Amino acid sequence: MKGICILGATGSIGVSTLDVVARHPDKYQVVALTANGNIDALYEQCLAHHPEYAVVVMESKVAEFKQRIAASPVADIKVLSGSEALQQVATLENVDTVMAAIVGAAGLLPTLAAAKAGKTVLLANKEALVMSGQIFMQAVSDSGAVLLPIDSEHNAIFQCMPAGYTPGHTAKQARRILLTASGGPFRRTPIETLSSVTPDQAVAHPKWDMGRKISVDSATMMNKGLELIEACLLFNMEPDQIEVVIHPQSIIHSMVDYVDGSVLAQMGNPDMRTPIAHAMAWPERFDSGVAPLDIFEVGHMDFEKPDLKRFPCLRLAYEAIKSGGIMPTVLNAANEIAVEAFLNEEVKFTDIAVIIERSMAQFKPDDAGSLELVLQADQDAREVARDIIKTLVA
Ligand code: NAD
Ligand code: MG
Repeated sequence: MKGICILGATGSIGVSTLDVVARHPDKYQVVALTANGNIDALYEQCLAHHPEYAVVVMESKVAEFKQRIAASPVADIKVLSGSEALQQVATLENVDTVMAAIVGAAGLLPTLAAAKAGKTVLLANKEALVMSGQIFMQAVSDSGAVLLPIDSEHNAIFQCMPAGYTPGHTAKQARRILLTASGGPFRRTPIETLSSVTPDQAVAHPKWDMGRKISVDSATMMNKGLELIEACLLFNMEPDQIEVVIHPQSIIHSMVDYVDGSVLAQMGNPDMRTPIAHAMAWPERFDSGVAPLDIFEVGHMDFEKPDLKRFPCLRLAYEAIKSGGIMPTVLNAANEIAVEAFLNEEVKFTDIAVIIERSMAQFKPDDAGSLELVLQADQDAREVARDIIKTLVA
């Protein structure tokens, strides 16, 4: 029996994780669940899964949540608050596995704490890895933590790696990764109309049902840019060894190309419960609740090269990882600020790339060799991006 802590339990990945957990009550016990402010969802999850701890980060929601738990049949749940509590529950003695499913930079410190504590870290929170890079990978290797990718592409690549492969190492006979992308909702939209797309249009993803931030990232293809950086770190490859392939059916979740010409692909219906169950059962396998793939219904699969004019965010991510140092941190921070401004209808969809590019232009690829430097670059880039937004809105 393994104890699991789910950081970001109320989000899209968190909900899918609890769905898989509920199928395997003999294998997993929920020790801690965390949420930012969605206390209605967290309360229902507490009733269903009866964790030992529940964390509410948003201070304004804590008192009400505590009252509701105190009056409930699960009144023995310990309710903690604030962002430090995330690190506390991620490192509890009886937690073996931490699902890192907070969105954005807010997930970095608890995910890093879990890695330093030697936990099995199921990594969905790609922003945490992109912003901290080698620091995170070093923490994993120093502590002996087990790092398993949840992002469907990286989980697919991991499944296509040789037996015994450990993330962070070079798979010698693998020469290239083919990182697949759906292309998002605007793959065929005339480029000149992209400036007028609304947040609702941008979050309506054709193949995946996800949180709002990652859905916008998919529409700009910054999601693939972050995943490119994530793949360089997880699989110790150069950016030029990773080729982004648009595959609109989202059946192949990525491929590994070996020196003998073999290309291994992992396929399945686009449902995050597959990579989640894969990582939870690893190195075994168990049921995820995902329907078997109907290959006859799929019929055929298409592959295209991405158009970097249509998707400038993907070009910016290549530039950030090639420059190195703090540039991936800057890219991620500026993107988080730009996406938030777009979702709040303060800037246009096409401004997202403009804000990131102008932000990056104000930084040099300085050393990102310590957590302090990374956190400083993150804060600085957020400020720069906010200032750029002011000039766009004025
Ligand atoms: P989501 O928006 O649905 O959920 C985010 C979760 O994080 C929620 O539980 C929320 O309460 C919590 N959270 C948000 N801000 C917080 C803060 N400041 N402090 C503490 N908790 C906070 O997001 P999601 O779609 O589930 O994505 C989560 C992560 O997984 C992201 O990094 C995303 O890139 C990655 N991911 C998601 C998918 C997917 O299919 N949804 C696929 C691959 C990777
Ligand atoms: Mg992905």
